Amino acid sequence: MMGKVQLPVQKNQIIDVIFEDLTHDGNGVAKVDGYPLFIANGLPGEKAKVKVTKLNKGYGFAKIMEIYEQSRYRVTPECPIYEECGGCQLQHLSYEGQLKAKEKQVRDVMQRIGKIEDVMIHPVLGMENPWRYRNKSQVPIGEREGGLIGGFYRQRTHDIIDMKECLIQVEENDHVLKEVKEICGKFGVKPYDEKSHKGLLRHVMARYGKISGETMIVLITRTAELPNRKKIVAELVEAIPNLKSIVQNVNSKRTNVIFGNETKVLWGRETITDYIGDIQFAISARSFYQVNPEQTKVLYDQALQYAELTGEESVIDAYCGIGTISLFLAQKAKKVYGVEIVPEAIDDANRNAELNGMDNVEFTVGEAEVIIPNWYKEGIEADVLVVDPPRKGCDQALLDTIIQMKPKKMVYVSCNPATLARDLRILEDGGYKTLEVQPVDMFPMTNHVECVAKLELRSV
Ligand code: SAH
Repeated sequence: MMGKVQLPVQKNQIIDVIFEDLTHDGNGVAKVDGYPLFIANGLPGEKAKVKVTKLNKGYGFAKIMEIYEQSRYRVTPECPIYEECGGCQLQHLSYEGQLKAKEKQVRDVMQRIGKIEDVMIHPVLGMENPWRYRNKSQVPIGEREGGLIGGFYRQRTHDIIDMKECLIQVEENDHVLKEVKEICGKFGVKPYDEKSHKGLLRHVMARYGKISGETMIVLITRTAELPNRKKIVAELVEAIPNLKSIVQNVNSKRTNVIFGNETKVLWGRETITDYIGDIQFAISARSFYQVNPEQTKVLYDQALQYAELTGEESVIDAYCGIGTISLFLAQKAKKVYGVEIVPEAIDDANRNAELNGMDNVEFTVGEAEVIIPNWYKEGIEADVLVVDPPRKGCDQALLDTIIQMKPKKMVYVSCNPATLARDLRILEDGGYKTLEVQPVDMFPMTNHVECVAKLELRSV
């Protein structure tokens, strides 16, 4: 029989360590005889006394007792609830340090997962002012001493940390959340309770057009009935400047998924508008819209540059959302085909094409991995193919089709470097070469990093 594996540390042991690295989720990593310990709040280069809290076969966890030597990139977090809230992970790291860490993260996965050696990875494009950038706030609602509370969950729990202000959020959204809590609380709206599956108000979403100044509120409820609806609406309209839309979404399921399938306008319009560059967008409650419009412009400009359009090209934009990238590309392409799974987003995309007087775009609802193979069979081909998938990356069926279709150029926009690296490996094996990767910091203070990669078909 195999004996118990002897680990170099024991539970509750107190040891001195030097942090070597930062994980993609913002934890420090220190190694004891090669055995990695993940330790919250540690930064590379720091020396600390830690206590071992949990041991697994291949790795363990510890917590910091004392930091002997601080990183020169360590700063005091600006936010008063940073330690409790799970929303940001990197406020203890200076912004310069964050950009360096994100670049390293991208380099690491390109090597480790993508096995891509000779690719140009540029330094991360950061923000001049990395605060108050988010245009969308979406928080679960709970209750304390009779009043409604709302805010992010404490890390790895479902305890709500009441949030009065969020420093990465536009101030307008702080105000919306405050008013919704007060007004809904006053009219006896009960928060949804996950355990008993009772109560009403599950989440509140506020979306603000940074250029247009328009605001939308979405109340996500368990049942369609909203007591005192008229009074609540009237008071919200009174309290929130430039409010253009109040929407209710009903989600009656026991689920972590935020939105349900039923959406109705309680007051005002179905959409708010905003601009990225010169292009205007109508955005409805259910549609994905980039949360950092300033950096989105930076990202899309890069994507457009990588696409090297001359006006003659046929372009496919997979995972197109409300057509943001599609319309950017359509300014310079002959024809753009967009595909997206959420029907409301495609309604928005069509509206947006019209709004901007663009008639060289065509949008289709469906799964990219189903629609694009069909297009290929029908003879629709692309000179340039752009993908911007969700965190899980591209579906294998889509990658297979791309490899058969052989568009000369590809632009891969990604919010998850690990799945980007995985998919680039598949595309490299299928005949593509990754030329450049440009990381863009769309989410300062958090552990997320967005990338845009340029690929070319190798000549045969
Ligand atoms: N390019 C857009 C949206 C990117 S987010 C923008 O920059 O704004 C990813 C989008 O992919 C979301 O809108 C999501 O609804 C959509 N999506 C998710 N799975 C999909 C699939 N299998 N096929 C097509 N679209 C999908």
